[in-house]
Amino acid sequence: MRIIFLGAPGAGKGTQSELISAQYGIPAISTGAIIREAIATGTDMGLEAKAYTEKGMLVPDEVVIGIIKERLVKDDCKKGFILDGFPRTVAQAEALDEMGVDIDLVISIEVKDEDIVKRMSGRRVCGSCGSSYHIVYKPSRSGEQCDKCGSDLSIRADDKPEVVLDRLRVYHEMTEPLKDYYKSKGKCVEVEGQEILDDTSALVREQIALAFGK
Ligand code: AMP
Repeated sequence: MRIIFLGAPGAGKGTQSELISAQYGIPAISTGAIIREAIATGTDMGLEAKAYTEKGMLVPDEVVIGIIKERLVKDDCKKGFILDGFPRTVAQAEALDEMGVDIDLVISIEVKDEDIVKRMSGRRVCGSCGSSYHIVYKPSRSGEQCDKCGSDLSIRADDKPEVVLDRLRVYHEMTEPLKDYYKSKGKCVEVEGQEILDDTSALVREQIALAFGK
């Protein structure tokens, strides 16, 4: 089972990836989370990526393609994986094809720009383990701490309103064309992102059941 989640920033790709990952026991791979961790630990890649992410820009293709190449050869990917936030450009999708990675299903979560901007203001992230929450739609049990590791939650630097608008522009220009890229291969389905997280999950599960019969 090799699945890609597409969608604007804040459409719910990360949350849906985590749920499907838990249900089917395959890893959810978020290039954004890998990049944030590299920035936090100050690696060379993190230092290079920081300037891009802070401005809401995409990190150069060769950097993220390198990240994915290293990640997909790990043992836990043998049974399948979920990609959250990769590919984000046609060049990245082509790189996956060149690596011989045969994607089974691409699920694009559709949310209107105005709703994205509203959602992002409530998003919170754990600085330690990367789990994400939303103050209305997916609050942590303890309020301002992470349910998984107990660390404080914060607003992501790139979730600030001015950066969100840039990220949306980048999404429409660079990432949205991937829907046609995968539709032409008969692999892309669209799911309307719902206000209630569980309602979106139900639609996502429906598509997975249709594609994989489970
Ligand atoms: P995300 O957590 O997926 O929203 O990613 C956060 C930021 O990491 C993005 O705004 C980009 O700057 C960078 N990033 C993550 N994935 C990619 C990718 N596939 N290509 C380029 N930049 C990426």
